[in-house]
Amino acid sequence: MEIYKQALGIYKANCYVLKEEGQCLIIDPGLYADKVELMIGTAKPLAILLTHCHVDHCCAVNDLLKIYDIPVYMNPKDEELLQWHRRVLSIYRPFLFRGPYEPITEGTLQIGPFTVRTYEMPGHTQGSVMYQIENHLFTGDTLFKGKVGITHKDNGNHDDLRRSAERLKDLDPDLIVNPGHAEDTTVGEELAHNERLQKLFEENEKLGLTLD
Ligand SMILES: [Zn+2]
Repeated sequence: MEIYKQALGIYKANCYVLKEEGQCLIIDPGLYADKVELMIGTAKPLAILLTHCHVDHCCAVNDLLKIYDIPVYMNPKDEELLQWHRRVLSIYRPFLFRGPYEPITEGTLQIGPFTVRTYEMPGHTQGSVMYQIENHLFTGDTLFKGKVGITHKDNGNHDDLRRSAERLKDLDPDLIVNPGHAEDTTVGEELAHNERLQKLFEENEKLGLTLD
């Protein structure tokens, strides 16, 4: 699998195009469909996957759907974000994505040659998910190098985030983390050195939270 990455838009949200056997998946096309098209090149797009529905991750979707007749997968728990755009910067406003979409939840989905394992990770938003494809984990705004996602009070929730964070301990530490912003890392690196994550684990320990 080949992975192409580009930070798009004012917030520099990472868009990823994954290619395999001449086909591709698009993860979080944030803005500028023409730039995403260049990343796609001659590959045949199969689907768009959204890690969550903040505008900086999905504002090229409408324009891409004018070119490619492909499904958009997102967690329906972010549906309200498609309607809620009061604080959107003007550059994103003409491109707001409002659906339709294919609902995706916890589980595994086969899209062409890609096996996509989805983890529901509420916290940064209620519908935030991570996608594992081969040894890559696309974490959206749930986990970054040295940081975790912020929890806005509109659709985010700190308690959900700390519960979701606990799930990272069960993952293969060698998984490469491809986050929604900034540079890549690994699950093991973040479990060992991410102070924000450690703080969430400490809170969980104090509250006696363990996962089944
Ligand atoms: Zn976000």
